[in-house]
Amino acid sequence: MKKLIAGNWKLNGSFDMTNEFDQAMADCADHVEWLICPPAPYIVNIENTARGAQDCSTNDNGAYTGEISAAMLSDIGCDYCIVGHSERRANHSETNEMVREKAEQLLVNNITAIICVGETLDQREAGQANVVVTDQIKNSMPAMATADNVVIAYEPVWAIGTGKAATVNDVTTMHAMIRDLLKSTLDTGAEMRILYGGSVKPSNASELLNLDNVDGALIGGASLKIEDFLVIGNAVNS
Ligand code: PEP
Repeated sequence: MKKLIAGNWKLNGSFDMTNEFDQAMADCADHVEWLICPPAPYIVNIENTARGAQDCSTNDNGAYTGEISAAMLSDIGCDYCIVGHSERRANHSETNEMVREKAEQLLVNNITAIICVGETLDQREAGQANVVVTDQIKNSMPAMATADNVVIAYEPVWAIGTGKAATVNDVTTMHAMIRDLLKSTLDTGAEMRILYGGSVKPSNASELLNLDNVDGALIGGASLKIEDFLVIGNAVNS
């Protein structure tokens, strides 16, 4: 499987920006798989990369004002959807169980779930990083998960939006631990993609994205600049 270079725009962008960005992606190198996850109103403007959403409801339909179901995302051609981003876990009190329910909704609607996991700085300093990430993966993973319908994104919370990415050693160690866990719990665990996310930028993309068990990146801030996003994807060895 190709490495996945995913941009998470969060609450940023505009109609025009999405169109400009999409136009610029038309001729991008195809040794990686590109994915853009803009805010929901702009998803349909994305035509030249895979289409992604940033969240979905745990519900199918009904009286849930403001929510968007996985079936609706499928209806507009979404290929991927992020669930369990640390901003949603922290700001919307999302639990592993809710993340798993969202991922289940995605899988039954043929959308690949990008399940985010990652420890806080306090948890890392307390030596709890492996325990926290293991617990998140075990409890957020739907029973029907395979390497074809789920991607794990390891995003240490302390590295998100801080400009301070995890070191090569941190990433190597954590991704190897996640790989072992996936292999021991899923038939297709050896193939499931594991993305790194947290302050990936043009200057560190090459050293982080070509490591063993790093199957791509989830990129926040640097995905908002076309040039930076392209440099990051092109840093992956072909
Ligand atoms: C993210 O929020 O998923 C992220 C990785 O952000 P940034 O690249 O800005 O650290």
